[in-house]
Amino acid sequence: MKSYNLNNFEEITQINKLSKEQINAIKVVGNVLPFKANSYVIDELIDWNNIPNDPIFQLVFPQKGMLSDKNYKKVENALNSNLPKDELRDLINKIRYKLNPHPAGQKKDNIPEVDGIKLTGVQHKYDQTVLFFPNHGQTCHAYCTFCFRWPQFVGIDELKFASRETDLLVKYVQQNKQITDVLFTGGDPMVMSAKRLEAYINPLIEADIPNLRTIRIGSKSLSYWPYKFVSDKDSEAILALFKKVVDKGIHLSFMAHFNHPIEMKTDAVKKAVKNILSTGAQIRTQSPIMRHINDSSEVWETMWKEQVRMGMIPYYMFLARDTSAQDYFAVTLERSLDIYNNAYKNISGVVRTVRGPSMSAAPGKVQVLGINEINGEKVFVLKFLQARNTNWLAQPFFAKYNKEAIWLDDLEPAFNEEKFVFEEDEFISKEDKVKLIEGEKIYN
Ligand SMILES: *Cc1c(COP(=O)(O)O)cnc(C)c1O
Ligand code: SF4
Repeated sequence: MKSYNLNNFEEITQINKLSKEQINAIKVVGNVLPFKANSYVIDELIDWNNIPNDPIFQLVFPQKGMLSDKNYKKVENALNSNLPKDELRDLINKIRYKLNPHPAGQKKDNIPEVDGIKLTGVQHKYDQTVLFFPNHGQTCHAYCTFCFRWPQFVGIDELKFASRETDLLVKYVQQNKQITDVLFTGGDPMVMSAKRLEAYINPLIEADIPNLRTIRIGSKSLSYWPYKFVSDKDSEAILALFKKVVDKGIHLSFMAHFNHPIEMKTDAVKKAVKNILSTGAQIRTQSPIMRHINDSSEVWETMWKEQVRMGMIPYYMFLARDTSAQDYFAVTLERSLDIYNNAYKNISGVVRTVRGPSMSAAPGKVQVLGINEINGEKVFVLKFLQARNTNWLAQPFFAKYNKEAIWLDDLEPAFNEEKFVFEEDEFISKEDKVKLIEGEKIYN
């Protein structure tokens, strides 16, 4: 795999399709947000005759609009004036910190303990599922420009989540019998070699933990490097490991991050999907909805239908988190709902396994169910798909309609209520309240 970043991207043959201004934007924005591409993304996925609108170009290459004009100017000036390295780094880190790198307590909340030892590479927010961030899986084959895991890639070390503590994880799952799922996430766990991945997964399956029913792997590798399951030198070992999990009687759910139907078109990805399914694993799919990439119902309809045809199960449609270049990517709640509904009405029941649009916010995953008029008041109808407090799951709740709203913290309770149900619980602190969170990756 040939990999490209800020230092060598001008070697990309197709780069002559870009204007001077576009190249400059990659340099300026790429100094703040993560940037990494590879030969597969560049040669097989991007249509270089459709620049800058090509969705995969937008997904991987930094764009001017991803920074505010003010920040863009600051970084551009700093680069032009050859600011000393450490001053440049300070400036850039300042901008990064303002971009909300760990939305709402992602770093310090939800970190469990075993025998008094903190499991810093583990997050446990919802009863049944723990997230595990293997130390060697904290990067990706390429980077998404919208990624909210970006602090992990840009070297703000203190912000990293990671763990080699598989033994402690095993203990934790043994001691907490409500846990049925361990979700490997990152970065992308599938950047690891088969050997590394085995070192994490084997102890877990060999411990014969009765409550462990499902291992999930959140990954964008089917989009960014499908050869991992086809022709890499350890691809057979990877598939054998998947089969081993399944043969142990544990469900293996590969949580695939796809943003656009283009990512499912190549021979390599088709073969990769077949190979994974042949191990007995299942593939569930998820994606955020983002302007410039996939904000149309046709795109979602095509994507979901194609996924089902290939044997995958559509799972979640997410709203863009309030981090990184959210202004550039954000789609309002109302428009997201329209896009979801317009796609949903054209798909059959076996494709309607998908849920959304959903916000992964501090109190939980909140699905926007619809817009209704109740007692003369126009409202959003919302429902928890996951909640910090499972009592909140049962009842839909209502927010005042707000045309511009893009996230939970833009909403206020309807019907003159003072608080949302999740704000009455003292478990949630005031500032935690509606800011975003951690957790799952919008995949991976
Ligand atoms: C989304 C998420 C999960 C998994 O939720 P499911 O609905 O079971 O897919 C687990 N932990 C966190 C923190 C999450 O955000
Ligand atoms: S969204 Fe996932 S695949 Fe994309 S950069 Fe972030 S962690 Fe990596």
